[in-house]
Amino acid sequence: KKVADRYLKREVLGEGTYGVVYKAIDTKSGQTVAIKKIRLGKHSDGVNFTALREIKILKELKDPNIIELIDAFPHKGNLHLVFEFMESDLEAVIRDRNIVLSPADIKSYLQMTLKGLAYCHKKWVLHRDMKPNNLLIGADGQLKLADFGLARLFGSPDRKFTHQWGRGKVTSLLELVWMLMDVFARWYRAPELLFGTKQYGAGVDVWAAACIFAELLLRRPLLQGSSDIDQLGKIFATFGTPKPSQWPDMIYLPDYVEYQYVPASPLRSLFPLASDDALDLLSKMFTYDPKARITVQQALEHRYFSSIPAPTKPSSLPRPA
Ligand code: ADP
Repeated sequence: KKVADRYLKREVLGEGTYGVVYKAIDTKSGQTVAIKKIRLGKHSDGVNFTALREIKILKELKDPNIIELIDAFPHKGNLHLVFEFMESDLEAVIRDRNIVLSPADIKSYLQMTLKGLAYCHKKWVLHRDMKPNNLLIGADGQLKLADFGLARLFGSPDRKFTHQWGRGKVTSLLELVWMLMDVFARWYRAPELLFGTKQYGAGVDVWAAACIFAELLLRRPLLQGSSDIDQLGKIFATFGTPKPSQWPDMIYLPDYVEYQYVPASPLRSLFPLASDDALDLLSKMFTYDPKARITVQQALEHRYFSSIPAPTKPSSLPRPA
């Protein structure tokens, strides 16, 4: 039995926040796909908005390092989002103790992550929910950013994109939903978000990418806070309490509280095996002041990516059995 006269349903792949994800064959192309079934009606309006926004954003994004939305349609009271099928994700790679990640492999994974982000940022889209299990890996080894349910357009100088979102009732409802949702995976959350900033930008994705870079090097999450307060505590204990000279705007943030002074410990002691180039890039991505933080484009131009070893080509990357 075909869904929408086109997709042959196969096994369930997993349970998402808003419904089940199953494998299917696209009879039109012969391609294996993953279909995200989103229940409509049962949940609050916010769920539907989230799904609709994911469609809207993904339709505008086409890049080798971004998951492709192949199709979207309503069927039997559910919204179906059809994505290219991905074999694995970066979390599975990091967790797999049988996998050895060489410096060239780590460079390759980071480069693909940053390339996907660079494309988003160029289109004025923030991912906002970067974490290893949202970085999917295809059969060809390519890494693709997924889960744009929480992505959001940020202000472009010409306001071209913000305009389409900036009118009508829906936008204000969406604003409310975003405010109420705990949107970022805490361990990957930038310090400005933890201090309650409302004017965040592309830097939040850079911070999250830095956490993922560190996790690739360490094979465990670097900053595992148990609450938002504890998350900031973990960040400060690792990089030292930010001095006002390092981050002048910090004291004006809505949830700013003074933390007990902790000196920075050298990054080298945390990453004894990383190259000097890797540590230099990592420290620039972990810059406290979002205005001073390296951009994704600058990160891609950092000498870490041009120095040896060259990044492993995607098809040669190690993958879970
Ligand atoms: P949510 O983010 O709402 O929790 P996900 O998008 O992570 O839901 O989907 C749940 C599960 O479905 C994932 O853990 C994964 O196993 C599977 N999945 C999601 N997208 C794909 C895809 N494109 N290819 C293969 N499996 C997928």
